[in-house]
Amino acid sequence: MNPTLIERDQEVIWHPFTPQKYAPDPVPIAKGDGVFLIDINGKSYIDAISSWWVTIHGHAHPYIAQKIYEQATTLEQVIFAGFTHEPAVRLAERLLNLLQGPYARIFYSDNGSTATEVAVKMAIQYWHNRGDKSRTRILALKNSYHGDTFGAMSVSHRSVFTFAFSELLFEVEFIDAPVSDNPLPRPVENLNNVACFIYEPLLQGAGGMKMYSADGLNALIKYFQSHGVICIADEVMTGFGRTGKLFASDYCTEKADIVCLSKGLTGGTMPMGITACNEKIYDAYVDDDPMKTFFHGHSFTANPLACAASLASLDLLSSDECQKNIQRIARKHEDFITRLKASPFAERIQNLRQLGTIVAFEWEEEEGSYLNNISLDIRKMALERGLFIRPLGNTVYLMPPYCITDPQLEKVYDVVIEILGELS
Ligand code: PMP
Repeated sequence: MNPTLIERDQEVIWHPFTPQKYAPDPVPIAKGDGVFLIDINGKSYIDAISSWWVTIHGHAHPYIAQKIYEQATTLEQVIFAGFTHEPAVRLAERLLNLLQGPYARIFYSDNGSTATEVAVKMAIQYWHNRGDKSRTRILALKNSYHGDTFGAMSVSHRSVFTFAFSELLFEVEFIDAPVSDNPLPRPVENLNNVACFIYEPLLQGAGGMKMYSADGLNALIKYFQSHGVICIADEVMTGFGRTGKLFASDYCTEKADIVCLSKGLTGGTMPMGITACNEKIYDAYVDDDPMKTFFHGHSFTANPLACAASLASLDLLSSDECQKNIQRIARKHEDFITRLKASPFAERIQNLRQLGTIVAFEWEEEEGSYLNNISLDIRKMALERGLFIRPLGNTVYLMPPYCITDPQLEKVYDVVIEILGELS
């Protein structure tokens, strides 16, 4: 008998974030269609976390697919050092227009980790180019997550994701996420030596969907920038409508110097990251001295297919329909929170919270560890019921594609409530 897809997978594949010895079999997916993932036996699952937060318009969207196809038959790839192309320039123009802030340049890379890695390098070399050798310290928030490459890991809270590498990561000072009235309960000494501060605006994703206030963030950015510290907003997860506004930073009056985007950028169809910076940062690299060049780039920098996908995704995102969907999902989540509060197991649900299309809570009081077994149990019970969710430890969250309908959302809520009922 021919081996199954799962058997073949198990011979040759190493899956991400997956304990290779005891993880459940991967679900063999044949097709994506809007909000659904469909397995090789025809069973469909509502993708309620947008496949790691990327698929904002649902799977296999025909408009984005068509634009990728047209681009693929025109220009699929070209080295981006010494060359340029229309989709890259158009996308940069459009993003600079959409990012409500003082941004002047777009630097392309491949994913969220490279977008943050580029941002940190850009900030460090900015001081180097300016001849200020003392500005080398880096600040980040406790519970932060900025990616899996070494620089991105270094600026991420030390956790199961980073423990094996802790000796090799560069030093970063982690501060508390701000609260409204007191952004810095413990002052940071000697801000004149700090090169940059990186943060996920308003919502810390992989660190446990932790939310904090725009007022506190405003105060923090203002304070740091008044001491010359370069502020970097990692909008990799929060970008493109997720939080109810186009970017989470749109809730803030104070703007970062550098912004990182990825995930929903291409509508979740192709890998791409971008790092936007203001004129001040860029100017430090415009010099006769070749040593002031930003020596960073990837083979697929500004890949035309990814640019075309991003432009198509932005077309969809800017439509009235999509904007209404985002607000509709946010309202439905509010009803879900009310339902959870009224459920017989309400006292076992902690920290119910919501920001735009994202709703999250902790199941039971225990400290949310990523390795908490409850995650696997909930994931399995949901899959059996035609729902795909992937709790972060005991933190359960929903982050559906914007095309999800009200009845589909109701099904998601019903299944979550049924599972919690069974667990309690
Ligand atoms: N920054 C944030 C805020 C993220 O949530 C993630 C991914 N979860 C990353 C960076 C890294 O992105 P990628 O997985 O595309 O490297």
